[in-house]
Amino acid sequence: MSRTVYVNGDYLPEEEAKVSIFDRGFLMADGVYEVTSVLGGKLIDFAGHARRLARSLNELDMKAPLTEDELLEIHRELVARNELVDGMIYLQVTRGAADRDFAFPVDAEPTVVLFTQSKPGLADNPVAKTGIKVISIPDIRWGRRDIKTVQLLYPSMGKMMAKKAGADDAWLVEDGKVTEGTSNNAYIVKGGKIITRQLGNEILHGITRAAVLRCAREAQMEVEERAFTIEEAQAADEAFITSASAFVMPVVEIDGATLGDGKPGRVAARLREIYLDEMRKAAV
Ligand code: PLP
Repeated sequence: MSRTVYVNGDYLPEEEAKVSIFDRGFLMADGVYEVTSVLGGKLIDFAGHARRLARSLNELDMKAPLTEDELLEIHRELVARNELVDGMIYLQVTRGAADRDFAFPVDAEPTVVLFTQSKPGLADNPVAKTGIKVISIPDIRWGRRDIKTVQLLYPSMGKMMAKKAGADDAWLVEDGKVTEGTSNNAYIVKGGKIITRQLGNEILHGITRAAVLRCAREAQMEVEERAFTIEEAQAADEAFITSASAFVMPVVEIDGATLGDGKPGRVAARLREIYLDEMRKAAV
């Protein structure tokens, strides 16, 4: 079935949707994006994603093309038109089309594209019961990873390196410390304490990260925001990742070293449950 997508004000069948070959997203990766999960036909933490989009646009001196209310309306319309129950909505905003030049165009209209991905049973992903394996690779991305840009080549390459090594994902390492996963934030648990890298320009400020840490603190779990090494992670009691589409996903192996008994840990399982419960209640 062909999806209905949104392009610059129009709802169209995906085959008819077009953007210019001069779009700076295509020519220069001059654009940002957001991914919001949908569970039971409702948007998970939409306000968080809208807030981060505004920040990403602002950091790149790009105009906000639509208000938060207009964006919410488009998200809901796409859910309805595509009869989306569980899945994701991708929102891409670029600086727009202009004759090729390194200098930003002054009058280009931003390009806005939204599309859905259906993932039936997204919250019941069986991998949450077995966990994922990660490898470590050097973090050679640019220095503003706090901006959610469409420059995803190295994360894609990292994912392929992981697959080639028989793993599911890669954790990126800079100056001896883990920054984050290719498309998720990284955590370890030691002695009941949840440890994850502090916010900064080195990592994306995960919307799921913010909600999960809030849930953890509300449940009286101890949280420490600091960087950790791969060796410390390998010696941890458990590890996990978070992202808008994976929620809380246990990690059971790091660079070939099995964590604990090789099964997902209790802290990750509990956080996944609390997070999904809270988010479903607040979904819009
Ligand atoms: N870090 C990176 C590099 C990401 O690409 C993502 C999500 O795509 C995340 C972290 C997790 O962010 P969020 O929880 O907002 O999905």
